[in-house]
Amino acid sequence: MSTFQAPKGTYDLLPPRSATFLAVREAISGPLRNSGYGYVETPGFENVELFSRGVGESTDIVSKEMYTLTTKGGDQLALRPEGTASVLRAALQGNLHKAGLLPVKLWYSGSYYRYERQQAGRYRHFSQVGAEAIGSEDPALDAELIILADQAYRTLGLRNFRVLLNSLGDKECRPVYREALQTFLRGLDLDAETVRRAEINPLRVLDDKREEVQKQLVGAPMLRDYLCDACKAYHEEVRALVTAAGVAFEDDEKLVRGLDYYTRTTFEFVHDGLGSQSAVGGGGRYDGLSEMIGGPSLPSVGWALGVDRTVLALEAEGVTLDIPAATSVFGVALGEEARRVLFGKVTELRRAGIAADFAFGGKGLKGAMKDANRSGARFAAVLGERDLAEGVVQLKDMQSGEQGPVALTDLVDVLRSRLA
Ligand code: ATP
Ligand code: MG
Repeated sequence: MSTFQAPKGTYDLLPPRSATFLAVREAISGPLRNSGYGYVETPGFENVELFSRGVGESTDIVSKEMYTLTTKGGDQLALRPEGTASVLRAALQGNLHKAGLLPVKLWYSGSYYRYERQQAGRYRHFSQVGAEAIGSEDPALDAELIILADQAYRTLGLRNFRVLLNSLGDKECRPVYREALQTFLRGLDLDAETVRRAEINPLRVLDDKREEVQKQLVGAPMLRDYLCDACKAYHEEVRALVTAAGVAFEDDEKLVRGLDYYTRTTFEFVHDGLGSQSAVGGGGRYDGLSEMIGGPSLPSVGWALGVDRTVLALEAEGVTLDIPAATSVFGVALGEEARRVLFGKVTELRRAGIAADFAFGGKGLKGAMKDANRSGARFAAVLGERDLAEGVVQLKDMQSGEQGPVALTDLVDVLRSRLA
């Protein structure tokens, strides 16, 4: 019988690489936890309509990439393809958006699912850490999020990433621009699919990666020239605050991003070592989303950073994270009674908050010491029958190789001070 394989487009996180994933999640969420963002967790699936309304029927995410299912009870559900719609739904349902409590600042970390063509850095199951600041129209929030993502990447040691920034206008100025762009696009020689896209979501055509399309877009009307005064002033303030924080960015007039709900500020973090899947994260302002999913007006801004691609970016830059060994002390016992006693000591160490492991499986001294080495533990505690009779344990410093007896009753205290 052949063994099972993980489904196409997915992969397992296994030690030791999985430790890097945990560290990346930790590093991305750290600046958020330190900046007033509270943790939110929502279900892995939602009513399909939340996404078709909240993300948009015309987006690739909803039209091509969503995993949908009908339950035995007849409910139409979808595995979540992104986080923002769910987080906003949860905030509304939980009544977090009462006046006086705004903005509601939340962060999340989890699995997302998109039926995509598998490529390097593009999977059907992937991880994001995200942040949403709900219910305030304040350019300092847009700036805060950009600055915190930059801080997260820098803390990890990434250097070759860039911040792309644009404004998509609002419900006043974007429709006027949309008209002008559509008129321009109708005069081009485009394939049927692109013509259709130009009618549904013309801004997305600007994002087309194909050379033959990009060539024709020279001279297209640019949103920058259509922004209303309020959007212009807002965008200038975001740019000024980000600049003052020392975060470099590039103005990218063609940055539109995949989701329908974005307004005003939109940004993307790209890494230059990743080939065509270069976006490590992105986000923006979504002032109209709450109303689209049946809530009151709640202007909001957020981002999601891809954990998988951030790990790939670290590998591309050759950055190895300084991850401390998971185990500090490794117990090696020889003989039945010594095993029982040392297992008890390992439990005591763990309860004292010292990371400890034990040579399981009845191995001999040589095999057990190999386990101790592999664990990365700073100390091995070796208990033989003669030691037991003398009431001592041999403590070996795995770095210096020094070894000496310690009274069994003092073991926890001695280790506590030596590890401090
Ligand atoms: P792309 O243009 O690469 O498809 P996107 O615009 O669809 O990205 P977002 O919806 O903005 O991506 O998601 C935020 C981040 O999540 C991306 O920048 C990326 O790092 C990550 N991400 C998105 N889709 C995938 C995927 N299929 N596999 C791995 N990571 C992904
Ligand atoms: Mg995508």
